[in-house]
Amino acid sequence: MSIDFSALWEQYGTPLYIYDFDKIAKNYHTFKDAFAGDKSLISYAVKANSNLSVIKHLGKQGAGADCVSIGEVRRALSSGIEPYKIIFSGVGKKDSEIAEALQEEILMLNLESEAEMKRVEQVAEKLNKTARISIRINPNVDAKTHPYISTGLHENKFGVEIDMGKRMYIYAKNSKFLDPVGIHFHIGSQLTDLAPIAEAAQIVADLTRSLKAIGVKIKFFDVGGGIGIRYNDEQVIDPDAYAEAISKATKGLDVTLVCELGRSLVGDAGYLLSSVLYEKQNGNRRFVIVDAAMNDLLRPTLYKAYHRVELLGENSGEVSEADIVGPICESGDWLAKSVSLPATKHNDLMVVHSVGAYGFTMASNYNTRGRAAEVAILEGKSRVIRDREVFEDQVRLEAKHL
Ligand SMILES: *Cc1c(COP(=O)(O)O)cnc(C)c1O
Repeated sequence: MSIDFSALWEQYGTPLYIYDFDKIAKNYHTFKDAFAGDKSLISYAVKANSNLSVIKHLGKQGAGADCVSIGEVRRALSSGIEPYKIIFSGVGKKDSEIAEALQEEILMLNLESEAEMKRVEQVAEKLNKTARISIRINPNVDAKTHPYISTGLHENKFGVEIDMGKRMYIYAKNSKFLDPVGIHFHIGSQLTDLAPIAEAAQIVADLTRSLKAIGVKIKFFDVGGGIGIRYNDEQVIDPDAYAEAISKATKGLDVTLVCELGRSLVGDAGYLLSSVLYEKQNGNRRFVIVDAAMNDLLRPTLYKAYHRVELLGENSGEVSEADIVGPICESGDWLAKSVSLPATKHNDLMVVHSVGAYGFTMASNYNTRGRAAEVAILEGKSRVIRDREVFEDQVRLEAKHL
């Protein structure tokens, strides 16, 4: 589908996040269909893009939700995701969050330490409930991605070692207030190599088998998320090969396969539209200053992430390299570096591609900039799914204290 960016600019202004909802649905069904031979649940990792309309749209396709805070659980419930499809993960859940998750009767809590398991047991006992839990195993495999988004090595804070996991399952099995229904791993994000995922699945499936032998019956085999997308020229993991590897690793185990996909469902369906403000030259360095900035899209400066930028319109003239930067008072405020562009003029439109995941959700109000509006496009029609933030939105919690 081609998107009429200049019509969107006229209607909604910039900076503007635009999501192609048809693409999101297609991404979801590609993965769901890949798992057609198994019982499966695709649990959308809400942190990738937590707009209520995005969650609701995926929910309508059949997705569940993987949440890492009670706020995300509330977003999932508000968007109509059924509680029995909601998973609550994360290394630092508070008692109040655990209690609320138990009250809401979500599918399971993914636990990341023995200490957390004991807290969950206590909270469940107080509420006289049995907590459905899953334990995140750290399989100690190298996902070979950016160190900030690698999570499956013992040096990372995530999950527990296999021996510890086993002890925790035995404890949980004997507890009146814990029901160990799941097993979980998640080794990192933006993975482009299937081998570490297959290896982790094998390790965790072996553990699942040995648990079965001692009477712990796992129903949900949760392989996390982390499937990479093509930002530039990366080779990406084929969904069918992915499903096959997991299916093979879990052969003979009667489990529902759960995937917590974030980026791979929404990443390539998002665009950040901005307007050119000025051009300038410092020494021999050329800068194109646009009205979107690091507060709108943090990934370039945080991870040195590459996002393709595209100048719209018919600019002619000599092409030279430029850095695309925003108005924020930080040298790290850039969206792209060394992009070959012809001369730009005021109000030319610039599109940053593949920003549907970890784009808006990492946006901030730094420099008292209002966060961008968000627009969805479905079957050729656009609609706002989040208003542009205005000054009053930003000072609401402060102004009353003056
Ligand atoms: C972030 C996260 C995901 C989703 O990761 P993607 O790379 O966006 O697919 C899944 N599970 C857990 C536990 C996570 O923290």
